[in-house]
Amino acid sequence: MQTKFSADQLANPAMAAAAGAIRACVHCGICTSTCPTYVLLGNELDSPRGRIYLVKEMLEKAAMPSPQVVKHLDRCLSCLACETACPSGVSYRRIIDKGRAYVEEHYRRPLRERLLRAVLAGILPHRGRLRMALSLASLARPLAGLFERIPALRATATMLRLSDAVLGSEEPPTAGVREPARGIRVGLARGCVEPVLDPAIQAAAVRLLQRAGCEVVRAGRDGCCGALPHHLGREAQALMMARASVDAWWREIESAPLEAIVVTASGCGTVIRDYGYLLRDDPQYAAKAARISALACDITEIMDRVGLPPIRLPKTITVAYHAPCSSQHGQRLRDVPARLLAGAGFEVRTPAEAHICCGSAGVYNILQPDIAERLGARKAAALDDLEPDVIATGNIGCMVQIGRASAVPVVHVAQLLDWATGGPKPARMG
Ligand code: SF4
Ligand code: SF4
Repeated sequence: MQTKFSADQLANPAMAAAAGAIRACVHCGICTSTCPTYVLLGNELDSPRGRIYLVKEMLEKAAMPSPQVVKHLDRCLSCLACETACPSGVSYRRIIDKGRAYVEEHYRRPLRERLLRAVLAGILPHRGRLRMALSLASLARPLAGLFERIPALRATATMLRLSDAVLGSEEPPTAGVREPARGIRVGLARGCVEPVLDPAIQAAAVRLLQRAGCEVVRAGRDGCCGALPHHLGREAQALMMARASVDAWWREIESAPLEAIVVTASGCGTVIRDYGYLLRDDPQYAAKAARISALACDITEIMDRVGLPPIRLPKTITVAYHAPCSSQHGQRLRDVPARLLAGAGFEVRTPAEAHICCGSAGVYNILQPDIAERLGARKAAALDDLEPDVIATGNIGCMVQIGRASAVPVVHVAQLLDWATGGPKPARMG
């Protein structure tokens, strides 16, 4: 696509990256049929190609974003299915990230939206605050039906319903089964939302890694990786959290080398893998961030590398595997999770439209509840059609989103692998 950015504009590295990505787009439209919002809404402006054009116009002209432009950019899930589909290798994430940051800087949202976004950015990335908010939400949950009927309170109702997903508030143990370590020292990223909503996931990951002979370490003061503010276009907050995370892991690396930094939430893994890019212009952090990005890997990748411990699955269980967008498009993990599950003795089935997002997408299901609900129902129906005993996925957001729309229990892949190799059966499976 032809662009007309000025030399001054291109002096800004993020603008130059976005401009380069825009130029790579040849407007072929191959990506449109894989875009969930285009599939649902049928509007070119809700397709990747349409959004690329909107961002190009906005950035090139240094224009004040209009409510119409913001609406179409806000509807993007950042699922990155368009990147997977694009034959020209367009890095859509560079375009939408710059577009979001620009909107955040130059557009004054209505008060209700500003408040909601401030609440999300102020609470979700902090485990303590989130725990407290969820305790309060449990008291107000009976009012969710009432709030649902008041348009101004729809987002509050959605948050109350999502808070249903909480299973417990215990910090996961760092020790479980202690097998003789094979000299493989790995870090396990703690994150923010996942350990609060479902601490059983990281507990299972620790057991699984230890059973495979890994020494598992935690980084002190390791919190939100920055993915949540990044989704909201709050780049300053996202970068601050990324730097804190790099510092936390750097201290750990300096004490002894790490084979990997293991992530159990694929949404976080996508962002941590991008630290090297996000902090590339910060002389103090660029090299360290690139190192952390290179070490980051999904729990399924490290298990693929070190090998599964002996399988002890009591019977054949049918698993419908949902590949999170952050796993299949963001990190291009391809068949690794499903292959591991099959290797652990599960009968693995994959749904139709496996490339389409479930509608979770960070905080999307709170900010865009109507589209998210339609996508969630569509995904749950496709998974339910497989008649599985359990649905497995690799991201807490997808677990919550699909769990709301399906009667089949939804668990994390790490929990199934832990169970198959001698750990407890996931509690949600009864
Ligand atoms: S497939 Fe790629 S090149 Fe074609 S319109 Fe979409 S982003 Fe542009
Ligand atoms: S990231 Fe997903 S929702 Fe956004 S334009 Fe690409 S395919 Fe569509």
